[in-house]
Amino acid sequence: MAIVNSVLGPLDTAKMGFTLSHEHVIVNSAGIQQAYPEFLDRAGSIRKGIAALRQARSEGVRTIVDVTTMDLGLDVRLLEEVSRESGVQIICATGTWRDIPRVFWTATPDMIALLYVREIEKGIEGTGIKAGIIKVANDMGGVTPEGEIVLRGAARAQKATGVPISTHTWAPERVGDQQVHIFEDEGVDLGRVYIGHSNDTTDLDYLVRLLKKGVWLGMDRFPGGNMPGTPDWEGRAQTIAKLVAAGYAHRLMLGHDWSVTLSIATRERQAERERRNPDGYLFITRRVLPRLRELGVSQQAIDQMMVDNPRRFFEGKR
Ligand SMILES: [Zn+2]
Repeated sequence: MAIVNSVLGPLDTAKMGFTLSHEHVIVNSAGIQQAYPEFLDRAGSIRKGIAALRQARSEGVRTIVDVTTMDLGLDVRLLEEVSRESGVQIICATGTWRDIPRVFWTATPDMIALLYVREIEKGIEGTGIKAGIIKVANDMGGVTPEGEIVLRGAARAQKATGVPISTHTWAPERVGDQQVHIFEDEGVDLGRVYIGHSNDTTDLDYLVRLLKKGVWLGMDRFPGGNMPGTPDWEGRAQTIAKLVAAGYAHRLMLGHDWSVTLSIATRERQAERERRNPDGYLFITRRVLPRLRELGVSQQAIDQMMVDNPRRFFEGKR
């Protein structure tokens, strides 16, 4: 039996079931809840998270990978409560998103790795709730010097613990190539690396090149279409169908990058986002999977992407 850390404790990977590979319950900023709580309705977010995930569970979702980091306002007690009350299993993250703390800029990769290892092996903020994945992020403009320190720290924590890495990228600039280059330099097994937000592009040359390196691709922004130069959800579905037809169903995972509260966006953008995706965590179930079937993707390939691949990824199987 293989085990992954969930916010409710060790989880048998055989029980992961239908899994969304990149989600959030809340997105906020470090320290806000403690210092300026007016920016986050914590109790309301818990209620919304429970309601949304109960509904998702009733339509088949069993597990979400919540890749919210400290600099995104990670609140593991909130995740614990939402998981317990909704019945959806949540795997939470250590690691760092784009708001890299200034103290990391002068740290060494080994110092960063020790922090991540502690959150995997002992727990986050003294709670005993352990991270099941290591998150890193590089966006427009590619890997910065401080971004590189974090990538190398994540690589070393991966090698020390065996826990996999999930990345945020800006696919239109092929930032996944730069991340892979650093992971290769660190000697990370690329079968333990997930290159996320890869469906922000329809560039098959880039995507297949990454797949040939042995990484997993996160087709994990749905419906998308809100950022200039990125495809709408039909374009995203077609790209998945093309990669499946090319024989890569065994390396793809799907998610929305959804959250019930997105404190870092303006109220207008939050309202616009809910208009664009009234289905929340269920857009894939209700819309994308039926469309993939129309595009000729088999139920077997869908089960592979939604059930088998997340399990194999966390088990460290090829
Ligand atoms: Zn995200």
